[in-house]
Amino acid sequence: MRAILLSTLLVLASLSGCFGGDEIFPENPGIPGGLALACLRSSTFDSLVIEIDYEEGYEPDTNAVNTLKSRVTEVCEKPGGVIVEKTLVDFSHDGPWTSNDVRTISDEFRQGDAMEGDTLHWHFLYPAGKNQDSNVLGVAVDASTVAIFLDAVEDAEGFFGRPSAEEVEKSVTVHEAGHLLGLVNLVYISPIEHEDSEHRGHSSSSGSVMYWAIESQNVGNFITGDLPDEFDDDDKADLAGMADGSIEVDSQLWP
Ligand SMILES: [Zn+2]
Repeated sequence: MRAILLSTLLVLASLSGCFGGDEIFPENPGIPGGLALACLRSSTFDSLVIEIDYEEGYEPDTNAVNTLKSRVTEVCEKPGGVIVEKTLVDFSHDGPWTSNDVRTISDEFRQGDAMEGDTLHWHFLYPAGKNQDSNVLGVAVDASTVAIFLDAVEDAEGFFGRPSAEEVEKSVTVHEAGHLLGLVNLVYISPIEHEDSEHRGHSSSSGSVMYWAIESQNVGNFITGDLPDEFDDDDKADLAGMADGSIEVDSQLWP
């Protein structure tokens, strides 16, 4: 019943879009992983722009952004490069964030459509405030949009700064990018058993940045030692298989 109601609302929402703006039909935003092949393969999209919009006091850590860029460059074939564009913005949003808020605000602020000419655009939002579930450090809400909640990241810092807020931020940032690439099992079924049985879409290995505890507030309780900020061999095997076609991929907006 709820699902029917929700889909009715979505239809109404898209219909009202017909009259509100220049767009006749809003672009289908897809699901996380819906542009995985567009990133992993080079044809059509020669480069990837990661657009970062942050509010005052919420500028992402340079190390986290550089690590994000390296990890994506390692797995996506983008001869034109992976380019980060940062902008200071004011989202003018009060209170906690729902996934829908993130989608709506992203639509309003993004400078490039997800697929524009030969460029793929990802949109990373760094807003003030927390997710409606204050334990959540980051979310991937559709095929190209992520929000990182630095207020929650700050609170996730462990005792004596282990892990530090900077380490948590770095891991969460790469983790959400992993979801945009379809990890784990979001748009394919891995031939390797490494999805955590109790946390869908996440790795069971604490050596992977896709480990289920990475995006949660008490990450420090689940991992002793350094937090992973890399995809592990199983994640990389999945991405390589998707890229070369040996793993079947579904729910793609492209091709
Ligand atoms: Zn996750």
